Amino acid sequence: MHLALSNGYGLVRRLGRGLLDVVLPPQCLACDASVNEPGSLCAQCFGQFTFITRPFCHVCCLPFETAVIEDEAICGACMKDRPAFRRARAVFTYRETGRSLVLKLKHAARTDAAAHLVKWMQRQGADVLAEADYLVPVPLHWRRLWLRTYNQSALLANALGRATQKPVLADALVRTRPTPSQGGLDRAQRRRNVAGAFRAQRQAVIKGKTVLLIDDVMTTSATADACARALLRAGAAAVDVLVLARVPAPGN
Ligand SMILES: [Zn+2]
Ligand SMILES: [Zn+2]
Repeated sequence: MHLALSNGYGLVRRLGRGLLDVVLPPQCLACDASVNEPGSLCAQCFGQFTFITRPFCHVCCLPFETAVIEDEAICGACMKDRPAFRRARAVFTYRETGRSLVLKLKHAARTDAAAHLVKWMQRQGADVLAEADYLVPVPLHWRRLWLRTYNQSALLANALGRATQKPVLADALVRTRPTPSQGGLDRAQRRRNVAGAFRAQRQAVIKGKTVLLIDDVMTTSATADACARALLRAGAAAVDVLVLARVPAPGN
């Protein structure tokens, strides 16, 4: 379900193109079109963009298709098999423009874009950010880090840390092995796929603290769950999750 988007983000400004293209006109966050205001989407991208708004699962942030009355309702999957993290928050759905935004961040050095995307994360993740002692990015395996030369979860965590004054523990989690692609796997398979793939370090620092895990995309909750397990094993009091994009339904 695509919900109304006009909830105060004020993103769209159509541009009288050419008028303001004096010095490096701002670009749409998702495509190369010029926009009036830095950190906004062009009208076309905005039309294919979905902010995640309530109601969504209180635990994994999966948007509900139907109206839900309870404030802290939980989806069937979380009810059956509760993830190790406490709450996840996501800004927009990983579809159409949302997907372009993430891919752009992943493959191009759009550090300028990250600063703007982080403002949305601050808004959508206000509750989990308020309680966080540390921000911890989901680590990329070194091989992928090398291929991509670029770690978007660390980029987001650092930008978020600057914006909120929350300390970032970039090395609190390490990948102990590469995980095969999660594509085409169901929830249980994904969970097995990443089980034990992360190890937490910095025990003395995270012991008894609330950790906020940062990533760009959450597909199922499998990766966040594996990271949360590692952090809790290392003594963290609680783990929440804040991501940019959430895949709206498994396999979608
Ligand atoms: Zn655009
Ligand atoms: Zn859920």
